[in-house]
Amino acid sequence: MILVTGGAGFIGSNFVLDWLEQSDELVLNLDKLTYAGNMDNLARLEGDRRHQFVRGDICDRDAVLALLQRHTPRAIVHFAAESHVDRSIHAPGDFITTNVNGTFALLEAARAYWGGLDAGQRGAFRFLHISTDEVYGSLGPGDPPFTEATPYAPNSPYSASKASSDHLVRAYHHTYGLPALTINCSNNYGPFQFPEKLIPLVIANALAGKPLPVYGDGGQVRDWLYVGDHCRAIRRVLEAGRPGEVYNAGGGNEMKNIDVVHALCAILDTLAPKAQGSYASQVSFVPDRPGHDRRYAVDAGKIGRELAWCPLETFASGIRKTVQWYLDNQQWVANVQTGAYMSWVEKNYVNR
Ligand code: NAD
Repeated sequence: MILVTGGAGFIGSNFVLDWLEQSDELVLNLDKLTYAGNMDNLARLEGDRRHQFVRGDICDRDAVLALLQRHTPRAIVHFAAESHVDRSIHAPGDFITTNVNGTFALLEAARAYWGGLDAGQRGAFRFLHISTDEVYGSLGPGDPPFTEATPYAPNSPYSASKASSDHLVRAYHHTYGLPALTINCSNNYGPFQFPEKLIPLVIANALAGKPLPVYGDGGQVRDWLYVGDHCRAIRRVLEAGRPGEVYNAGGGNEMKNIDVVHALCAILDTLAPKAQGSYASQVSFVPDRPGHDRRYAVDAGKIGRELAWCPLETFASGIRKTVQWYLDNQQWVANVQTGAYMSWVEKNYVNR
């Protein structure tokens, strides 16, 4: 069994679904079900005994330790976080609570649990922390991509909170010997992404005839990785990564935000044409967000050399699949927008 935290969120739910497609090893899914946790993502697993869901908070060290001792997982894959940069600008406190204090509490629980295992189990145990390339700060136009040796320079409350959690994970390996590893990954996209993030937001707004908001001049550059490729990287690092190591993962797809938006419009123009004109006419430039990083780019050479991982999707193939998924799953988007996706929580926790 593995324990996954945040497995009802975007990447976590893709990972859980993917994991159970590849193997029958049980998944214990610990998620607080904040606004970003969506049990609709896991509907396919209803009644599947290989998936055990527990609603809980990673900040509760004692509850997490009890869970670990009861289920004895061989690994923890830690996704749970507050993940939206814009929200971190308006309400940074939640980011410190979950990303910093929550990761600390989870590490404390993991350390106590791990210390109680026998020598063989201790050696095989893994704590895999999922983090972001944003911890490295912003690149200039000609700068080389981030490597694992790039100094940390986080610029938003989100990236600062993730940087802090990365340092704690590193320290727990260095100080206590906890077999911990970290993946720092670039922007993910794909099915089940909450429609506050650029790609699902643009698709949803385009179809609804609403403006497609682009910050500043739209010239911010991000590297994009299809979520299924990230899930493969996570499995690979869990399987063969060296404890104490950090692995950067990225898609090798540097794109300006405005180009991503135009790519989405062009695909929508083909797959779901408007009666008249292009979706691109809905593009609307809005004032830039404070402290907006200009460019991220990731050197994924280490994970390629050491673990033979590389992305299978190009941006062109991944983005087309993604648009098609949102077109085929408009009810999923509507459930998020109306709040109906929360009915699972109400049925199972509130109205019980
Ligand atoms: P998300 O916001 O979609 O999901 C986060 C999940 O964590 C939700 O299900 C939420 O309910 C849960 N959660 C939040 N606080 C919790 C708590 N205190 N206890 C238990 N569960 C809690 O996030 P995501 O986009 O899937 O990102 C997952 C991880 O990957 C995060 O750590 C994020 O920093 C990292 N990451 C994301 C991206 C990206 O592009 N989305 C890129 C690189 C790294």
